Amino acid sequence: MTIDPQIVKSLQAIVGRKHVLTSQEDLLCYSFDGTFAEFMPDLVVEPRSTEEVSAILQLAYAHEIPVIARGMGSGLAAGTVPFGGGIVVPLTRMNQILEIDRENMTATVEAGVITVDLQNAVEEHGLFYPPDPASIKHSTIGGNIACNAGGPRCLKYGVTGNYVMGVTVVLADGRVFSSGGKTIKNVTGYSFSELFTGSEGTLGIITEAVLRLISKPRFVRTAVAAFDRLGDASRAVNSILFTGIVPATLELMDETAIVCIEEAMHLGLPLDKEAILIIESDGFDEEGVKHEIKAIARICRDSGASDVQVARDEAGRDKLWRARRSVSPSLARRAPNKLGEDISVPRSQIPEAVRRIKEISQRYGLPIVVFGHAGDGNLHPNILFDKRDPEQWEKVQRIVGEIFATAVELGGTLSGEHGVGTLKLPYLESDVGRVSIEIQQAIKQALDPKGILNPGKALPLMEPSAHF
Ligand SMILES: Cc1cc2nc3c(=O)[nH]c(=O)nc-3n(C[C@H](O)[C@H](O)[C@H](O)COP(=O)(O)OP(=O)(O)OC[C@H]3O[C@@H](n4cnc5c(N)ncnc54)[C@H](O)[C@@H]3O)c2cc1C
Repeated sequence: MTIDPQIVKSLQAIVGRKHVLTSQEDLLCYSFDGTFAEFMPDLVVEPRSTEEVSAILQLAYAHEIPVIARGMGSGLAAGTVPFGGGIVVPLTRMNQILEIDRENMTATVEAGVITVDLQNAVEEHGLFYPPDPASIKHSTIGGNIACNAGGPRCLKYGVTGNYVMGVTVVLADGRVFSSGGKTIKNVTGYSFSELFTGSEGTLGIITEAVLRLISKPRFVRTAVAAFDRLGDASRAVNSILFTGIVPATLELMDETAIVCIEEAMHLGLPLDKEAILIIESDGFDEEGVKHEIKAIARICRDSGASDVQVARDEAGRDKLWRARRSVSPSLARRAPNKLGEDISVPRSQIPEAVRRIKEISQRYGLPIVVFGHAGDGNLHPNILFDKRDPEQWEKVQRIVGEIFATAVELGGTLSGEHGVGTLKLPYLESDVGRVSIEIQQAIKQALDPKGILNPGKALPLMEPSAHF
C-alpha cells in the first residue's frame, strides 16, 4: 500500500522528521524478525512517548492503515513481520526505567526497555526480575509481555505474565488507558493486564508496565546428570518435583544436542548418553541450597543417571551454562539452517514426544535436535536443514505440521513461550478449537473494530459469517 504524503507529513510532525523512516535500506531492517519470514513495511515511525503512540494510532485509525508494534524483532513466530505493509512502530526509543520501588518491590518501565537492562538495574537494589528468555539481551519488556515470554527459570518463578502488575496501553483508535498498578490485590473490573499479556500486538500497543520484583536469591548450586535413557531423565524430573523440591531450572538436552555442543565447545560432555539434565537450585539459605542439590543428585542416581556432578564453584557453573547456552549456535555446524519450534506437553509425555519427534526425523531424513525446559514440558525441537534445497524446505513445512499434531495429540499445545504470530496460525484451531477463536475474534472486534493492529497475527482474520 502507498501511504499518502500528507499522512507522512503529519507523522513527521508527531515524532520529528528523522524518526519517520522511508528509505528502502531503513525499511528493510524492519521487514523481518527471528524467523525466515520477511515483508517490507511502508513506513517506520519511532515514537518517544505514550502521547506520540496515541497520536500515531489516531491518524492510522482514521485512515485505516495497519500498525505493527515492534520491540527488538527477536520474535520466533513472525509476529512483527508486516505482511501486507503498513506502519511499523518500534518502541525502542521508549527505553526508560521510570522507577524501581524497593518498598513495594516493583519496577515501572517503558515498553522498549531491554530485558537484561532491567534485570541488571534491579539487581543493584538486591531485587530480582526472574523471567529470563534466552533473548534477554535483544528483546524488550513490551515484546516479552506481548508474547508472554518464558525461559529456564520459569519452572520455579513463572513466566513474564506472572510479573505484570499493570500496563499502560494505547488502543487502536488512540485512546490511552492503564490497568492494574502496584497493589498486590486488585479485583476491580476485568483483569486487563492479563488480557494484553500474550496478545501479540493485536489488541493495543503496550507503552508502559508495572512489574513485580522479588528478592534476589543469594545462593545457587548447579548440577549436571547424564542418562543412558531419556525416559530415565524424565522420570528423574518427576521424582524431584514429587518430593516438593522446585529447582530454579531443569533443562534437558538430547543426544544430538550433546554431540553438537561437544563438537563446538569441547566441554567434556559425555557423547554416549541419550540425555543430560542441567539442574539448578537457589535460595537464601546456603546450607538449604546445598542440601537441596545433594537431594536432587541422589534422586537422579536413583532414577538411573549414570553420572551426576555438582559444579564446585562459579567457573564450573559457568561451564554448564555455557553448554546450555551454546545449544542453538552449535547447531550451525551441522546444517546451514535450523527451524526451532516451541511445543509444550504435559511433563509425563516428554519421553513419548521425543520418541515421536525422532521417528518423524528418521522418516524425513532430516536431523531434529530436542532440548528445552523439562520441568515444565516446554520442548524446542530444532529441525536442521539447508533452505537452499527446495525439497528440504518442503519437508520442513510438513515436519512442523507433524510436530504440532504430536503436541496436541499428547495433550500439549503449539507454543510454550514464542506465541502464535503468523507461523502457527494454520494449526491454531486444531489446538484451541473453533469457539476459542470466535471468542478471541469478538474481543478483537470490540477493541479494534477496523482491524488495524497487527492484522492477521495470533488469530485468523474475521470471516464475514463469524459470529459470537
Ligand atoms: C536466539 C533467540 C532466543 C530466544 N529465546 C527465547 C526464550 O528463551 N523464551 C522466549 O519466550 N522467547 C525467546 N525468543 C523469542 C523472542 O525473543 C521473544 O518472543 C521476545 O519476547 C520478543 O521480544 P521482542 O522485543 O524482540 O519483540 P518483537 O519480536 O519485536 O515482537 C514480538 C511480538 O510482540 C508484539 N509487540 C512487541 N512490542 C510490543 C508492544 N510494546 N506492545 C504490543 N505488542 C508488542 C509484536 O507486534 C509481535 O507480535 C528467542 C528468540 C531468539 C532469536
